[in-house]
Amino acid sequence: MIINNFMANMTEKESATRGIWTAAMDYAFNKESIAKEHLIENISNGKAVILHNKNKDKFVGIGRGLTTKINASIGTSTNHIDIKEEVRKAKIAEDGGADTLMELSVGGDLDFIRKEVLNNTSLPVGTVPLYQAFREAIDRYKNPVKMPENLVFDVIEKQCESGVSFMAIHSGLNLISLERLKKQSYRYAGLVSKGGAYLVAWMIENNKENPLYERFEDVLKILKKYDTVLSLGNGLRAGSTHDSFDRAYMQELIINCELCDIARDYGVQVIVEGPGHIPIDEIEANVKIQKRMSNEAPFYVLGPLVTDVAAGYDHISSAIGGALSSSYGADFLCYVTPSEHLGLPSGEDVEIGVKAAKIAAHIGDMIKLKKNGDDLNISKARRDIDWEKQFKYSIDPEYARKLFKLKNQDDTAGCSMCGEFCAPLRIRKYFKYEIKQGKKS
Ligand code: SF4
Repeated sequence: MIINNFMANMTEKESATRGIWTAAMDYAFNKESIAKEHLIENISNGKAVILHNKNKDKFVGIGRGLTTKINASIGTSTNHIDIKEEVRKAKIAEDGGADTLMELSVGGDLDFIRKEVLNNTSLPVGTVPLYQAFREAIDRYKNPVKMPENLVFDVIEKQCESGVSFMAIHSGLNLISLERLKKQSYRYAGLVSKGGAYLVAWMIENNKENPLYERFEDVLKILKKYDTVLSLGNGLRAGSTHDSFDRAYMQELIINCELCDIARDYGVQVIVEGPGHIPIDEIEANVKIQKRMSNEAPFYVLGPLVTDVAAGYDHISSAIGGALSSSYGADFLCYVTPSEHLGLPSGEDVEIGVKAAKIAAHIGDMIKLKKNGDDLNISKARRDIDWEKQFKYSIDPEYARKLFKLKNQDDTAGCSMCGEFCAPLRIRKYFKYEIKQGKKS
């Protein structure tokens, strides 16, 4: 029997542990190539999670044995508030193939913006509750460091109630990780996480432990009630390739992995977040260390960016980092747009960022899950100069078709790239192509 878990008042993890197959598992299962027993086992032991858009009853599975998923972040800034534009970006991201959205607004009426985005997408929506807590502290007290501790817990509950599927919560940035940051004589790029930087300022100014760490059980109680997935935030992530893997980052990661165990024992679904900026030769170790220390919790990487100099092209830098991360086992990639480091992304930037991240996820899955069926099919179509099939197996069929039409008169021969020097046209009469997937058919 399939149980609708939302009604059963259990988290997906608790259901999986009891061997109950839920509607959410069924939904994820039907979109993936994984055996039912593996999916339920992975959810039970915390190696996979299921995100739920509660307003539209849509689900997305993330983690072991599942395809790499991509997130598109949208949201207002304090100096650019255009709610219609953010809703447009949400639709562009969904149409472009994003698996989840993060609504990261910091300017305007945050409850209203979140509601508008939730009403206009069927993707699971994530947030960073600290943003709203600091926003409200600024509005009420004119100073974010005056944020009362309870406010962030109220915001978490309010956002859960509104239908948020997952939350980046910075519980691992505690006094120990802050001490590690101070002792290593700081960094090239300092702190780049908004939530992390504001939280550090709050802890220093109030001379207090991070309430999200100190009262971690209160966080878990709320998330469990709504089966909102906990994404343990990476507030000390490097903003420069020079700073990657430093002691502060490692300290926070260790604490996050400890908290991940506690969340699992509590029945809460949990993801661990990673970098950031990281040199390409450190990616393998980064994924393996996170997987080992967290007992294979789903790993959510923000990019990562493999160089610091690609301003205007950071979607490419992050696609390189994302593809490698996924190939080594990362499960969830946050896209980066061409506007990264330069300004608030436009709808067009969102579209480019989503496409770049989708390519990265696919490249990773070719290695991680041996998922190369479309690559074989498009290669064969290229050999046979079958344009319809080439479009069909492209990552963006519409765009491929549009470019082809723009650059060619007809579709009977090769294309305008080589004209009469088309290699497949020249050679095909000499060979019988009967080879499929490396073997004679
Ligand atoms: S003309 Fe060149 S690019 Fe175009 S299909 Fe033939 S070989 Fe490929």
